[in-house]
Amino acid sequence: MTDRWIRNAVAGRLVDPDERRSFPAIDPTDGRVFARVHEADADLVDRAVSAARAALDGPWSRWSAAARADLLRRVADRIEQRAEEFVAAEVADTGKPVAEARRLDVARAVANFRAFADIASRADQPSFLTELPDGGQALNYAVRSPLGVVAVIVPWNLPLLLLTWKVAPALGCGNAVVVKPSEETPSTATLLAEVLTECGLPAGAYNVVHGFGPGSAGDFLVRHPGIDGVTFTGSSATGTAIMRSVASRVRPVSFELGGKNAALVFDDADLDLTIAGLTRSVFANTGQVCLCTERVYVQRSVFDDVASRLVAAAQGLRLGRPEAATTTTGPLISAGHRDKVLSYYQAAAEAGATVLTGGGVPTLGAGLDGGWWIEPTLWSGLTNADRPVRDEIFGPAAVLIPFDTEDEAVTLANDTEYGLAAAVWTTNLARGHRVAQRMRVGVSWVNTWFLRDLRSPFGGRGLSGIGREGGEFSVDFYTELTNVCVQI
Ligand code: NAD
Repeated sequence: MTDRWIRNAVAGRLVDPDERRSFPAIDPTDGRVFARVHEADADLVDRAVSAARAALDGPWSRWSAAARADLLRRVADRIEQRAEEFVAAEVADTGKPVAEARRLDVARAVANFRAFADIASRADQPSFLTELPDGGQALNYAVRSPLGVVAVIVPWNLPLLLLTWKVAPALGCGNAVVVKPSEETPSTATLLAEVLTECGLPAGAYNVVHGFGPGSAGDFLVRHPGIDGVTFTGSSATGTAIMRSVASRVRPVSFELGGKNAALVFDDADLDLTIAGLTRSVFANTGQVCLCTERVYVQRSVFDDVASRLVAAAQGLRLGRPEAATTTTGPLISAGHRDKVLSYYQAAAEAGATVLTGGGVPTLGAGLDGGWWIEPTLWSGLTNADRPVRDEIFGPAAVLIPFDTEDEAVTLANDTEYGLAAAVWTTNLARGHRVAQRMRVGVSWVNTWFLRDLRSPFGGRGLSGIGREGGEFSVDFYTELTNVCVQI
């Protein structure tokens, strides 16, 4: 039993935990409980929303855009100073390799605050002079104001990265937020509350409520009449539920949802670059990135070569303790998620797949066998009609499918209800541009994957989401525009 608590943060203070409402924080590497999380009830969620409203109506509303930008820069600096605490918290929650948490999750959190300090403070506002029929004129301009109290609901796969991707622009635009992190990864949201307070954010502008979805903090938050909008990253099924919850009050939503992303490998691809890229895009974060590739379409003449080289790369991944320098791959996030991923391993076998590598649960020893480990897996012999090729699996697994022509590759890749990301691998740049533009997705890469400029739009089509965030697109979501028209 542990006496460590992960607390809610309301009105600038960490809330004393309630022994009667708690759930365990579990280390996915070995299944050990390392803390208790205080589950927010409806009353605490209500206090968080009220605190956010009070901040919005109080001194926070009088901060200039420049002062808010300075605050975001101080936060970035402070996260850098406390980086090892953030790394430790993220690793405890997710089991991911320490080096990756440092290089990706914490570094991107810092980058998010720095980028949106600039972007939010420079947001454009349109203005026009209108010529009137009587020869007069009207000056039309638009002013931006914060959206208001924003509910921020995020998943467990890149907890700090995805949280700060929303919190930085929201605060930069002058909003107050109530954050509901995933029940699987509560730690960094609470740590961020400490940092924001240290950096001078007024009480109530950032609040954290811990808990689950239905019948718990997530549901209480999105149904609360005091929220002005919801920004959500998570599964398409939860997006649907949240949309229903806010529909009766017509609140704006920004949804970054699931994916079933394709890679297209042409026979003119640089195969060294391609295999290195595919190894990352299929297996990064144990396949638990919304942008991960789960379908690899390969031109027939290079199919066997690509398959054997990707299998060798998968077999070269090293599962193990997060702190070991040799570890490349962590466990899945939870027992329930591993059951789900394994159900697709089973479905692939039943559909007659050839298992090129993996397909099961490894035995690692060294005290790790109580964790949620799974083998990196590749299949061939499936088609777009099979469930493992249609559903998002969200694990370290992909199917390889041959194609003959460019048109066939495009048709196969677009044959999905999702529309988040694609990656085209070719040395023919004309083809690269052509095929990338024909992908029905929000992000289309050529000869790379996961390369992000934070000013560019990010989001998905179809089941993959609604709206775009990133750069000025984030500013559009986190502000309201009022048109002022003056006859002069
Ligand atoms: P999830 O939808 O189960 O949960 C996400 C969050 O929503 C959690 O905080 C959860 O507690 C909360 N939630 C669940 N039901 C709710 C409800 N009814 N009302 C309010 N809140 C509720 O997703 P997950 O399993 O945590 O994350 C994995 C999913 O996230 C995958 O589908 C993945 O593709 C997606 N994802 C998308 C992006 C993107 O940018 N498009 C990024 C990362 C992850």
